[in-house]
Amino acid sequence: MKKLISFVCIVAGLFVLLGFSGVASASTTPKLYLDGNQIVTDVDPIIKQGTTLVPLAVLSSGLGYEVKWDNQAKEVTVLDRSMTIKLGIGQKVGYVNETSYELSQPPSLVKNRTMVPIRFVSEVLGLKVEWKQQTSEVLLTSPVPEPEPTPTPTPAPVQEATISNVSISEEGNLHIAYSGVLANPKVMLLPSDASTPARLVVDFNNTGYTYDLASGFIKGQTEVALNGYKDITGYRFSQFSNTPLVARVVLLLNEEAEYKLYKNDGELIISFNEVSNDLPGELIDPNPTPPPSQSPDEGTPPPQTDTSKPIYHIVLDAGHGGTDPGAINKSLGYFEKDFTLSAVLKMKAELEKHEQVVVHLTRSNDTFIELAQRVAFAENIPGVGKKADIFISVHANSYTNNSVSGTETYYIRENSKQLANTLHPYIVGAVGFKDRGVRTASFKVIRETTMPAVLLEIGYLSNSTEAKSLFNSNTQNKLAKEFAAGIFKYLKLQ
Ligand SMILES: [Zn+2]
Repeated sequence: MKKLISFVCIVAGLFVLLGFSGVASASTTPKLYLDGNQIVTDVDPIIKQGTTLVPLAVLSSGLGYEVKWDNQAKEVTVLDRSMTIKLGIGQKVGYVNETSYELSQPPSLVKNRTMVPIRFVSEVLGLKVEWKQQTSEVLLTSPVPEPEPTPTPTPAPVQEATISNVSISEEGNLHIAYSGVLANPKVMLLPSDASTPARLVVDFNNTGYTYDLASGFIKGQTEVALNGYKDITGYRFSQFSNTPLVARVVLLLNEEAEYKLYKNDGELIISFNEVSNDLPGELIDPNPTPPPSQSPDEGTPPPQTDTSKPIYHIVLDAGHGGTDPGAINKSLGYFEKDFTLSAVLKMKAELEKHEQVVVHLTRSNDTFIELAQRVAFAENIPGVGKKADIFISVHANSYTNNSVSGTETYYIRENSKQLANTLHPYIVGAVGFKDRGVRTASFKVIRETTMPAVLLEIGYLSNSTEAKSLFNSNTQNKLAKEFAAGIFKYLKLQ
């Protein structure tokens, strides 16, 4: 119940958000889409004071719910496996099971059809509802069943040993205390260079740290600087990797230092002293692996070889695709999905002229992709293992009045405002359409991503002059170039 009550607050909030001034609503018939397919109804949906009402038939024939109509009580019941929704004609109060909710608009009769507030019903039924004000579209998305937990292809890491202490002895030997079965470590000696001394990197597989030790890590490691020892000037240790579980100890050495590793029950010793007679245990791995030609970093390996220049991962999202054409200019036979793909491919080519930029596309051909998948893609770029630095969704607009034209740039989260403001003039300058400004709108792909994200409505496909220009390769080339210039400006590149 608590969930439903908070849900009502959300719905109420959404109605406020979706309450619009009537500029678009009065003259526009909202279009309904379920999972990207338009639902056509015999009676058009209507907007009453900011609330979209749809014929009840949408719920039964369109969405497959069992709907009962009680003519005497003038009451509609929508049955779902888990709940019953009751709505009365002209009644501002609806019921979900036994709980009452205030509706922003009561269900009403239009042309002998029962009209119900689609957002309320859909959200109660677990459908995602999005309102695209610009195109007057209601986008419904079916609930996706929770995916079956897929068995991980690699076995979970096994912790066979736990390091409980790392310390330096009076003689200047490093002692690593452990419990469990410690595998012989992998050892790498990295030569010194201009900025760093020689390092001995010691990796223990299937090894973790005690809670006490790990909770002392600062930025993932404990670092100790040493003074007064002949061969060792410091050391640090960290959990280098979780899958597989690798504990790493790095010793900062004098270049000529000689060392030996000893292991006995509960302790591994890295000895720098010739006299090692008193050291118990077996001598192990006296010959370290020669360093690879490309010196590995001791921390997280950076994606690039030149650490002074960061790489920016940019996700470009071509709007719509496949069964979802987006906006359509019928007289010209143009689909928004074709424009967005073409534009995005050109943008990628321009952006990647810069060595510090890598572009990832949510789609690179004519396929349908769920909005949620686009968000997930940007949040964890396949093959990169992290979220994008920038997300850009490219669209073309449409409106019932085909004289409307111009470029709009949308953002919704505060961390995206600067990106929107930086980029917008470049887009307007490139295509030369009317400047309709930087705006905010709660599009899912820019709302649910977390990095700076904007949605570009480059121009109006419903306006034939703009449509022709959008599909003109010269305009697209210019758009791609200027778009890239805007991104470089934002990233302070060049
Ligand atoms: Zn679009």
